[in-house]
Amino acid sequence: MTIPVSQTVADGATIVAEIERRSGESVSACYQCGRCTSTCTAAFAFDYPPHRIMRLLQLGQVDKVLGSRTAQLCFDCMTCSSRCPMNIDVANVIEQAKMIADERGIEGGEKEIRLFRRAFLQNVRRHGRLHEARLLTWMNLRTFNPFNDFSLVPLILRKKKVHVIPPRIKNREQVHRIFREVNGDRKMK
Ligand code: SF4
Ligand code: SF4
Repeated sequence: MTIPVSQTVADGATIVAEIERRSGESVSACYQCGRCTSTCTAAFAFDYPPHRIMRLLQLGQVDKVLGSRTAQLCFDCMTCSSRCPMNIDVANVIEQAKMIADERGIEGGEKEIRLFRRAFLQNVRRHGRLHEARLLTWMNLRTFNPFNDFSLVPLILRKKKVHVIPPRIKNREQVHRIFREVNGDRKMK
């Protein structure tokens, strides 16, 4: 899903301001040196590399940013952030764009990745840590591919890589609290 082209410049500026507020970064500080992109190992799969994401935000072109493959595929390794000479947390800027895209139901053409991220977070939120069996089952059902990788199940169980019973961790409420504080009332659509 993409935001309509008719989106106003004012709306774009509002979203950029919101990304800056949430990330605590100023996109105008970027001077387009490109170091973030040169160190990003996922840039080959992006439609807009990190430095172009920053430029698009400077120009208020949020429709391109929120609907980008970059916002869905960035895996938050933070290499770009650690290399920025302006100390801009580029990964966090992209993460906030991703969160806003999620809140607006924008998939950027990567529906399964968005589904996986939502399932992963809900899984950790519920159990306090990842319960792989539930995550894999949920993904297979939601992607209408219930037997995906089914032949691997005996091997996975034999190697004890996946636990059938959900894990029990101490102080699970503290994990819930982290989610509440990070997400507030925001929900993914
Ligand atoms: S490394 Fe920093 S200053 Fe350079 S392009 Fe990336 S965000 Fe901008
Ligand atoms: S955080 Fe995202 S954009 Fe930055 S280097 Fe890692 S994958 Fe690339």
